[in-house]
Amino acid sequence: MTFQTVIEPFRIHSVEPIRLTTRAERFRAAEEVGWNLFGLHADDVLIDLLTDSGTGAMSRDQWAAVQRGDESYAGSPSYFRFRSAVQRLFPFKHIIPTHQGRAAEKILFSVVGGPGKTFINNTHFDTTRANVEFTGAAAIDCVCPEGRVPSLILPFKGNMDVELLERTVESVGPANVPLVMVTVTNNSGGGQPVSMANLKAVRAVTQKYKLPLFLDACRFAENAWFIHEREAGYGDKTVSDIVREMAALADGMTMSAKKDGLANIGGWLALNDDVVAEKCRNMLILTEGFPTYGGLAGRDLDAIAQGLSEVVEHDYLNYRIRSTAYLANALTKAGVPVMLPAGGHAVYIDARALLPHIPPLSYPGQALAVALYVEGGIRGCEIGTVMFGLHPDGTETPAAMDLVRLAIPRRTYTQSHIDYVVEVVTHVAKNASQLKGYEVAWQPSALRHFTARFRPIEA
Ligand SMILES: *Cc1c(COP(=O)(O)O)cnc(C)c1O
Repeated sequence: MTFQTVIEPFRIHSVEPIRLTTRAERFRAAEEVGWNLFGLHADDVLIDLLTDSGTGAMSRDQWAAVQRGDESYAGSPSYFRFRSAVQRLFPFKHIIPTHQGRAAEKILFSVVGGPGKTFINNTHFDTTRANVEFTGAAAIDCVCPEGRVPSLILPFKGNMDVELLERTVESVGPANVPLVMVTVTNNSGGGQPVSMANLKAVRAVTQKYKLPLFLDACRFAENAWFIHEREAGYGDKTVSDIVREMAALADGMTMSAKKDGLANIGGWLALNDDVVAEKCRNMLILTEGFPTYGGLAGRDLDAIAQGLSEVVEHDYLNYRIRSTAYLANALTKAGVPVMLPAGGHAVYIDARALLPHIPPLSYPGQALAVALYVEGGIRGCEIGTVMFGLHPDGTETPAAMDLVRLAIPRRTYTQSHIDYVVEVVTHVAKNASQLKGYEVAWQPSALRHFTARFRPIEA
């Protein structure tokens, strides 16, 4: 007998209290911070779905590993445990620890980027794009066209458009492309996976033009699980073997251990090229630290080493991916428009579709995010016109979509927490026609979503 209920494959060993609040308290808290959920004190939030980055729960064995951490400045045993854990999955020659993913990006692109260069990715994550552009280089996204249509149900919507990749390499000239990158899973494209067949096709193009291929591998285990579940020929392979097959197609990687490292901080840059690695290590010493600790304490390196053995466990990944799908399916059943199929780490509500009476420039995503907080204490993240609508010249246009992302921290919330989220979102959706838009009361000139203040439009 196989039972249908997917249980959390862990028991709770140490608990963190959630402070229950009333609607009136939350209304006051939101009003005080100018209706910007980034301004809230986190203990005024009941269920925090702002991000899955660094917010997961560490295991008993990770906390034990923290105690084993060795804080020697150079040559710490923690570094060697970290390096072998990384190389068991990603057998690259050089493993360079950093304090998080963007530090790995900063170092890599400072070394290989610069004016006149072009980097191609399925979809650049925002820190990746920012670090490319900071060097004066261009960042071009070549995700497959299906990846841009939220309602299409397809297995690998994170795939690179391989023909577009090749045309782009031809048009900018291969000599101006320092490397091609594939983001697994495609975070900015809804956490959608990339197939092994697509990685192989990308590899063939990069080989033809002799270009290095790098993985932005933050959610490598979730991506490998989707390959295991969805791609012909991979159902019998272990996730570890699938990850090694992905790694074998690449020449290097950047990684945030705050995602599939199951740690609260950390990351790394890995690569095979000796000359580039030496330049990266020199930069690392300037900005992060000595090459055997990067920006991390020895105990962080040990927590990551242990996390990497847990993140590829099939019971964990089955639970992880099924629980994200559980939320997406329950919302779909309740008539709430969400991006489909569910990605690995988050569910994206289509606020523009849910609130057609609020025009994009009155921020339907912001209105929905604030309502989820005030009504139920749930903190999601607007990904829409507030985040992307303001341009450097001060003009404003609607973003391509107005979404609210509910990101699921790893091993942190139980099914009853998620059932509560479903109940709150359903309640807010039923009364969606009463929600009002917002206008900006104050904003900075860039990255306004973090600090802007808003005011409800009382029409
Ligand atoms: C989070 C993330 C990064 C950056 O990592 P940080 O640890 O937040 O600096 C880069 N790429 C992707 C796809 C990410 O999800």
